Amino acid sequence: MNEYREIVSEILRTDGGGEAWIEMDLSGYLTERCTGCGTAEPAVALAPALQWLTRHASLCTARR
Ligand SMILES: [Zn+2]
Repeated sequence: MNEYREIVSEILRTDGGGEAWIEMDLSGYLTERCTGCGTAEPAVALAPALQWLTRHASLCTARR
């Protein structure tokens, strides 16, 4: 079990003041992450994950 993760997208500021990004672990698994609402969802591929990121940044109003 390796905790290493690399951020593979821009870090976007969400509407609520959190930060959202896409990260990848050493096995190549992608995770959609947002500090505002606490999202940490696995993503199947980078393209849809980036679409989620852009959309989520303008929709997420949750504050930590
Ligand atoms: Zn969020």
